[in-house]
Amino acid sequence: MTPTTPGLHHVTAIAGDPRENADFYVGTLGLRFVKRTVNHDDPGTYHFYFGDREGTPGTNVTFFPWTDGGPRGRFGAGQTRDAAYLIPPDALDYWVDRLESAGVDVDRAERFGDPVLRFADPDGVGLELVASDAARESDATPWTDGPVPEERQLRGFHSVTLAVASFEPTASVLAAVLGYEFEAEADGRRRYRAAGGGPGSVVDLVETDADRGQTGVGTVHHVAFEASDVEEQERWREAFADRGLTVTGVVDRKYFRSIYSREPGGVLFEVATTGPGFAVDEDVENLGSRLTLPEWLEDDREGIEARLPEFEAPSVASRGE
Ligand code: ZN
Repeated sequence: MTPTTPGLHHVTAIAGDPRENADFYVGTLGLRFVKRTVNHDDPGTYHFYFGDREGTPGTNVTFFPWTDGGPRGRFGAGQTRDAAYLIPPDALDYWVDRLESAGVDVDRAERFGDPVLRFADPDGVGLELVASDAARESDATPWTDGPVPEERQLRGFHSVTLAVASFEPTASVLAAVLGYEFEAEADGRRRYRAAGGGPGSVVDLVETDADRGQTGVGTVHHVAFEASDVEEQERWREAFADRGLTVTGVVDRKYFRSIYSREPGGVLFEVATTGPGFAVDEDVENLGSRLTLPEWLEDDREGIEARLPEFEAPSVASRGE
């Protein structure tokens, strides 16, 4: 049985100050703070998830804030340059105004016929808003208590742009392992789309002369694709291995199960299951309101809380409409 082609599940980057990070993604971009936990591999570091009202796969951008003077990243080959969210076409002017009012420099561009707003988050992570009718097909759930009116909210991912030294090695993994199909090329950019994929199923490749990038504050750590269940994930795992790529075993991330493989262009790919989802340890109403820990860290909650940096979640400003 051929697995269905995965769209994006989440994008994970490294932030600096946790407060600044949460203020930007919640207060400015209007995403919901859906989960506040720790990096399971480094419980002295927070792991924040921002997404739609329910944290639906395909809407979540997640961060490890490196607060103890962790090194800044250096952008280069083998990295995700931009993560792009969908917005409805008639929300474009709203977002230019909203971002500029927040002191964000916005570049306007047009790409494959869609208007695109390019900007960076406070740590320098590249972000885009793509104004496209595809926003209407998104299954993102509006966050009714958010600072952005529902009809203007981000509607989940449109795409990621990966910067690589040369197209072919990464393109071949997208095609042969993940089932992506070449769609178009323009201005040095090659677009691939998951076969039959809806919103969030686009991966763009651009070539860069830069040296291999270094992970650190302001860079994307990995890109995760969605598998509907563990059986489908296992088929992806075998597909990576058949291609001669190193792939991890299945890791329990509490809210989903994950495997990881670094594609030959240098980008770390994850394949994460749809479920069980963020409501597994908090009601949807209360998502993100407290520090959640997986069972295997719960015994050390006091110690973990004492080691974590001080952090106060942003309060959401009224929409002021
Ligand atoms: Zn991940």
